[in-house]
Amino acid sequence: MGKTYKHIFFDLDHTLWDFASNSRRTMAVLFNEFGLNRLGVPDFEAFMNHYEVVNDALWAQYRAGEIDKPTLRNGRFPKVFERWHIVDAELSYEINERYLQDGPKQSGLMPNSIEILEYLTERYGIHLITNGFKEVQATKLRSSGLEGRFETITTSEEVGVLKPNVRVFEYAMKLANSLPEHSIYVGDHYDTDVVGSRNAGIDQVFFNPHGNESPGDATFEIKDLGEMLTLF
Ligand SMILES: [Mg+2]
Repeated sequence: MGKTYKHIFFDLDHTLWDFASNSRRTMAVLFNEFGLNRLGVPDFEAFMNHYEVVNDALWAQYRAGEIDKPTLRNGRFPKVFERWHIVDAELSYEINERYLQDGPKQSGLMPNSIEILEYLTERYGIHLITNGFKEVQATKLRSSGLEGRFETITTSEEVGVLKPNVRVFEYAMKLANSLPEHSIYVGDHYDTDVVGSRNAGIDQVFFNPHGNESPGDATFEIKDLGEMLTLF
């Protein structure tokens, strides 16, 4: 039968904190505030869809170590605006700054986040492992009501490397005083979360809310966090 889990480690972005909706909400405000429509961007949907494509591509390069964080952050808006022939370094800089400031203040969570954390916290040690900056992630926790719900928090900034590097998971287990056989990790990104935690010897819950194609080899795969009620 299954292992005896004592500690459950959660990813934050797209797993508990609804990154996509929060990002969209932030960007909708900025789209109007900066008058992007008047500058030649046809509509918000076109802008947001293109932003997501550009940002995802840059993030993939960042995770692969091909570009650094400043290149990711400073490069994305000029690249997005290129599509509509907008060349405005100041605008790109300002909108990026505001996006970074305002985004983490959004409160949207994935369905059943609070319910599942309240349920699990009675039975397990609950922890967070996130690729991101300590201060930014702390703002997200405060804004969304997640603050205080984790025994330990591990950010890639503190460890110095990003998931899927096993050192992030090892650091988190040490902090939690847990062993791989007593640990399980919940995350939405197959390569970063499932492969990363597996390489660290930890069982995995692959949270796949959009039913994306998956190798199907995670310890568990769920579409809704509420499914963890019956698994744990
Ligand atoms: Mg994630």
